[in-house]
Amino acid sequence: MEPQPKTLQQAIQYYKDEQVCIDAVAAMRWPNGRPVCPACGHKEHYYLKSQRRWKCKECYKQFTVKLGSIFEDSALSLTKWLPALWMLVNCKNGISSYELAADLGISQKSAWFMLHRLRLALQRGSMVKLGGPGSEVEADETFIGGKARNMHLSEKKRRITSTGPKGKQPVWGVLERESGEVRCEVAMGVGKRELQPLVRKHIAADSALFTDASYSYQGMDSEYVHQFIDHAIKYVDGRVHTNGLENFWSLLKRSIGGTYVSVEPFHLFRYLDEQSFRYNSRKDASGKKISDADRFQLALSQIAGKRLTFASVTGKDGATCF
Ligand SMILES: [Zn+2]
Repeated sequence: MEPQPKTLQQAIQYYKDEQVCIDAVAAMRWPNGRPVCPACGHKEHYYLKSQRRWKCKECYKQFTVKLGSIFEDSALSLTKWLPALWMLVNCKNGISSYELAADLGISQKSAWFMLHRLRLALQRGSMVKLGGPGSEVEADETFIGGKARNMHLSEKKRRITSTGPKGKQPVWGVLERESGEVRCEVAMGVGKRELQPLVRKHIAADSALFTDASYSYQGMDSEYVHQFIDHAIKYVDGRVHTNGLENFWSLLKRSIGGTYVSVEPFHLFRYLDEQSFRYNSRKDASGKKISDADRFQLALSQIAGKRLTFASVTGKDGATCF
């Protein structure tokens, strides 16, 4: 067997064999890679090699490694899916459906579908809140939106006459400083009514909460140890700043503005999930850089249902796609 791939080139070479892909997904789906019948839970099977299916010894139903996974109803082979996942999680500024289509020799429509489905799978993050007593978190909001000169005229007219800041979409995020973990989501607005529920949804009570001086975060002192920095005066006052999150916003905007030139507001949340995944898997718990190979394994584990933790992969310096 060839050694595990470390670069995009090697990954494409390695995963061009469907059986290798099946084994890789099986290893992530089931304990010790041993298939469990999705119908009855039995662990003894026949493997029908030519069809690449298992047949359960208990209920006689047949199943593939794709059944019950995000790949289930796709006619595309895993030899396309796995390199697509590699590119999605390892290309710093993301990958467009056009690039992916050209690289994999598939239609742009198929590539678009794959990328969206992969993003959806990456999104299923932990429901556990960030922060907690003594833990420092930054919360902030930003606006994402196209430049007026890139819009069609009708759209331009519509946006200029619409209320809200020039058709831009507010996005809210939180960064837990110790772990460096970011979460963000599309916000319906930037008032108290929209932002405070997001704070409560994602940040554990009694966290040390750092925000800017926005009125929207005022009045949460009974729930959080809240300190804010007035950006009209200065950006940092000791621990009181939102610079970690500002850094994430600039990465996000570079990615959305560069690769994804026309993100529809409706799809924006998927790009947020994708960028958060890449950001959250850049380093392991000890601060070591996570390699492209390990980031891919993390993503695959998440997609296949056997969740690895960031700490459980050993990071080595990884080459990036670009
Ligand atoms: Zn069965």
